[in-house]
Amino acid sequence: MKNWFFEKAIPNLRIEETTKLAIKIKKKIFSGRSKYQKIEIIDTYPLGRILVLDGIIQLSQVDEFIYHEMITHLPLLYYPNPKKVLIIGGGDGGTLRETLKHPIKEVYLVEIDKKVIDISKKYLPFVSKNVFRERRVKIFIGDGLKFIKNYKNFFDVIIIDSTDPIGPSVSLFSKKFYQEVYRALNKNGIMITQSGTLFAQFSQVKKIFNNLKTVFPFVKIHLATIPAYGEGEFSFTVGSKKVNLERINPAVIKNIYKKINLKTKYYSPEIHFSSAILPKYLEEKLK
Ligand code: SAM
Repeated sequence: MKNWFFEKAIPNLRIEETTKLAIKIKKKIFSGRSKYQKIEIIDTYPLGRILVLDGIIQLSQVDEFIYHEMITHLPLLYYPNPKKVLIIGGGDGGTLRETLKHPIKEVYLVEIDKKVIDISKKYLPFVSKNVFRERRVKIFIGDGLKFIKNYKNFFDVIIIDSTDPIGPSVSLFSKKFYQEVYRALNKNGIMITQSGTLFAQFSQVKKIFNNLKTVFPFVKIHLATIPAYGEGEFSFTVGSKKVNLERINPAVIKNIYKKINLKTKYYSPEIHFSSAILPKYLEEKLK
C-alpha cells in the first residue's frame, strides 16, 4: 500500500506473531544509513514526525512526552536528591530534556550513533529543545557497556534509553551489563530501562525483570500506554540498590515534585504509584 508506514517485526518475533500499526505517511523527511543502523524521519498524519531506526518506531511527535517523562521522572523521584545522572542511548535528546528539569549537577549521555543525535537535532528539534548545549550536559559517543566499565560508585541514577535488543543494543540487555550498572551506581543508586510492550514482547519483559532481580534487591515494573508503540501497554523496569521501592511514602514524592516545581504533561506523583499496579494475570505470569 502506497504512502503507508508498516513497522518491521520487533526483534525476536515473526511478523505473523504480532499486531502492527499502519500509519498514513504525509511526507518522508529523511532516510539514510549510519555505521550502525538505518535512520528515517517520516511525517505522518496521526502521529506527526516519527523517528524510525532499522524499521522500528523510536518516538512520535504526539506522544514522546509520555515515554520520556516516565523513563526520567520515575528514577529521579525514587532517588532522594540526585546529582549525577547517566543516560545510555537516548540520542534523540528527549530523556536529556526531562532530566535537566531536575536540579542535578551533571548528566552524561553515551550514545553509540552520533548520526542519531545529528538527525534528531535537525529534524526533531521539538524533542531535544537545544538541551545538548546546556552546561550540565556531557556527551560521549560510544558503546554503553564499554563506557560504564570505567565507573564505580559514581552515578546516582542510570537511565537505559536504548533501542530494542537488536544490533548494537543487545549487550545492554545482558546480565553482565546489569552487573556493570550496579557497580557504576553509588550505594543508593537507582536504574531504569525501557523493557518493551507487554503483549508482543512479554518474554523480553520477563527476562529483563528476572535478570535485574539477580542483580538488584528491589525491582519494579511500571506501565504506560504509548500509542506509537501499539500493542497495548509499554513497560519500564526499575532496579534499586538500597531504596525499597515498595516502601516509598507518596507524600515524599509529592513534596519533591512540588519543591522542584517539575512541569510535566503525563507524569504526576499519582501516576508514579498507579503505573506500578500490575494486573493480576501479569503478576502471575511474572512469577
Ligand atoms: N524511545 C526508544 C525506544 O523506542 O526504545 C529509544 C530511542 S533512542 C533513539 C535509542 C538509542 O540507543 C539509539 O539512538 C541507539 O543508537 C542507541 N544505542 C543502541 N545501542 C547502544 C549502545 N550499545 N550504547 C549506546 N547507545 C546505544
